[in-house]
Amino acid sequence: MTEKATLAGQPGKREQLTKFACLDCRRVFKRPVAHTGKRNWPRPVEVRRCPSCRGDAYLMSSDFKAPPRDDLKRWEVVSYLVRSGMPYFRIYEPVPLAVVHGHPKARPKGVTAALREAGPYPETMAEAIAFAARYRSQAQPIVWSDD
Ligand SMILES: [Zn+2]
Repeated sequence: MTEKATLAGQPGKREQLTKFACLDCRRVFKRPVAHTGKRNWPRPVEVRRCPSCRGDAYLMSSDFKAPPRDDLKRWEVVSYLVRSGMPYFRIYEPVPLAVVHGHPKARPKGVTAALREAGPYPETMAEAIAFAARYRSQAQPIVWSDD
């Protein structure tokens, strides 16, 4: 395995360091990935080889904050969400314009739809199951990479 982290930040490489979380040994590390925009916005969930245990490590949103390694209950929730295609990317849902701007005359011209950030991400399994079901349409595909 070659260490490609040194490429990050060089002009023209279009790479940035992105978090990966190993769901087996519960460690987080960073690797360069092809530039695809904001790191907390949805994108396919790449799976890389964990440098520590060789297990599967999943691409995470930059918003993801890893629980302590020995907090198995919280890691179970993390695993469920990640394997559901929701590695803590920001999820937005439509809201009725009336909720945002009140009376139609109070709306800015040209505004036809509004979104709000869904969340926060759940911390219990029961909440995680409901969350994954509710936002299933925004789940991302999981893709295995050769690295
Ligand atoms: Zn690992």
